[in-house]
Amino acid sequence: MEMLNFTVGPVQANEEIRAMGQEQVPYFRTTEFSNLMLENEQLVKKFAHASEDAKAVFLTASGTGAMEAAVFNTLTKEDKALIVNGGSFGQRFVDLCALYEIPYTEIKLAFGESLKKEHLAKYANQNYTAFLVNVHETSTGVRYDMDLIHDFCQANNLFLIADNISSFLADEFDMAKLGVDIMIASSQKALACPPGISLLILSPKALDRINNHNVQCLYLNLKLALDNATRGQTPFTPAVGILRQINKRLNQIDVAGGEATEIAKVRDLALYFRENIKDLPLENISESYSNAVTALKPQRENAYEIFTKLKDEYHIWICPNGGEMKDKVFRVGHIGALTTADYDRLIAALKDLKEKGIL
Ligand SMILES: *Cc1c(COP(=O)(O)O)cnc(C)c1O
Repeated sequence: MEMLNFTVGPVQANEEIRAMGQEQVPYFRTTEFSNLMLENEQLVKKFAHASEDAKAVFLTASGTGAMEAAVFNTLTKEDKALIVNGGSFGQRFVDLCALYEIPYTEIKLAFGESLKKEHLAKYANQNYTAFLVNVHETSTGVRYDMDLIHDFCQANNLFLIADNISSFLADEFDMAKLGVDIMIASSQKALACPPGISLLILSPKALDRINNHNVQCLYLNLKLALDNATRGQTPFTPAVGILRQINKRLNQIDVAGGEATEIAKVRDLALYFRENIKDLPLENISESYSNAVTALKPQRENAYEIFTKLKDEYHIWICPNGGEMKDKVFRVGHIGALTTADYDRLIAALKDLKEKGIL
């Protein structure tokens, strides 16, 4: 029996994308592949509402590769960064700034806590230069208030790096309006393709920083990537097959009505699931939600046991949490090729576990 996948990535891909996985991978130093890449750039910019003069680059790396590239290609020891740290992905930005010796301050949030005005107030007018945030902190299901962050960054003239990896195509996002300088996404979340490709959309301010900065790295050097991207190419052999699947998927979304239609589909699935588990002893622990994920705390604090039971006895993957939260929280994703019938199967399994006294 095939597993039903409600994790947050890799997620289920639709039939057409899966079928492409069987095709021969073509040679890529060709006009045809360049055109495909230029179309990928144009469509991701369109779906992110990026400004005309923004540029997109595609890296053959998981999402963390793009986070790392963003940090060391644009920030220096002269910067002073503010980092929202509300979970394991916020912590990743902290680890990266520590590694590259970028001066930083963490805004630490409790598990599931949202970002509020009062968290930011004391950092106003303190000579910060950059702001790093995961739009959706996937480990806790919290989606941050990007309007609040935008206002703060505008008032304090901060360079804004937004890891939108788990929120892109799941929640509304307007890069230009939000004044985001770098938006990061990757292939295995709502794009619903295999893992292996991440992308950055770069504002003119980000391009300036990249062009004026000499980095000690070849593979993730964004100046090199940008030079190649102008002709629809990459400096090194990319994951050609995944880039073709991404192209197909972006075109599917475009034809179906664009990112708004895709986001509405994810939102409807999230609402359907949340509505239909109201009678179960599960508490939604996020103060402000993304459509991408529901983070739940079972009354008996046996989250990992529930994950294991669903996997082994019901052929269903939900997403376990790590570390301290291992037994407290599990997450259910709403991205990827899923239907309400799939959720009916998950909800029936959860009800069954309740009858057995496990949930
Ligand atoms: C999935 C995810 C990442 C990337 O993780 P990788 O394993 O490197 O692909 C980064 N940030 C957020 C918010 C994510 O959800």
